[in-house]
Amino acid sequence: MDLLHHISDVRALRSSLGNLALVPTMGALHAGHVSLCQRARTVAPHVAATIFVNPTQFGPREDFTKYPRTLEADLEKCREAGVDFVFVPKVEEMYPAGSPEIAIEMPGLSDTLEGQKRPGHFKGVCQVVLKLFNIFTPSHACFGQKDYQQLRIITAMVEALNLPVEIVPCPTVREPDGLAMSSRNRYLSATERQQALAISKALRAAEQGFQQGFRQTNRLTTMMLHALLESHLLVDYVAAVEPITFKPMQEVTGPTLLAVAARVGATRLIDNVVLGAK
Ligand code: AMP
Repeated sequence: MDLLHHISDVRALRSSLGNLALVPTMGALHAGHVSLCQRARTVAPHVAATIFVNPTQFGPREDFTKYPRTLEADLEKCREAGVDFVFVPKVEEMYPAGSPEIAIEMPGLSDTLEGQKRPGHFKGVCQVVLKLFNIFTPSHACFGQKDYQQLRIITAMVEALNLPVEIVPCPTVREPDGLAMSSRNRYLSATERQQALAISKALRAAEQGFQQGFRQTNRLTTMMLHALLESHLLVDYVAAVEPITFKPMQEVTGPTLLAVAARVGATRLIDNVVLGAK
């Protein structure tokens, strides 16, 4: 497995290869990331992962400086997952002129849910992902459904700008008890870890409600709120929206995204599930 730090080295290596699947990450890798790398292996003969904690997608009061950085362990996971090369650039390599002024704006998709709570977040995500696409020219790129809005926004960017890459959605990987894997789970104390379970429990409660025949989304989101508040989580949002447009849904008449963001102590976690998917 090759470890590269410079864009010029990526370009040199890439130029001799055919189809390549890219897995962009911020590191602190877990089984969710590994599943993306494994999926990447199945769609293209070459697999590259990137590890870059992208400053432009963090707000001023967010956890950029304390975000976990575990490079040696990450490289080992990449090796085991069959990644061919890993790109680990410094911030100055990606942004030599400082924070870029250029931005892709998709207000309809990015001003709601996460975007409403984290202004500028998706602007930063699109900046870095588009740069990575231009650096790697991947034939495929794998993204997790755990970050559903991010996946949708990147898919929309690719469609709108005719980027020659196929986006491969990958299912959310969970701990055995249901907690969605996240690099931020390492911030949780043992007590908080138990509390955090309320998020996946809330989604499961809504799923069960749906299976029992409830179709009014406010009935389902109320069930979720109960589960979250019972465990004393601070709820950022609980929403039921159409999964392509993110327009609010009053009733589950077709696929419906239930999305939640909540804080457990100082740690902010997100999770989601799609109801009524065919
Ligand atoms: P991150 O390192 O958090 O930026 O995530 C990098 C990629 O891994 C994104 O496409 C995420 O959606 C994906 N990812 C993160 N957590 C999970 C998970 N639990 N299951 C599947 N994919 C995930």
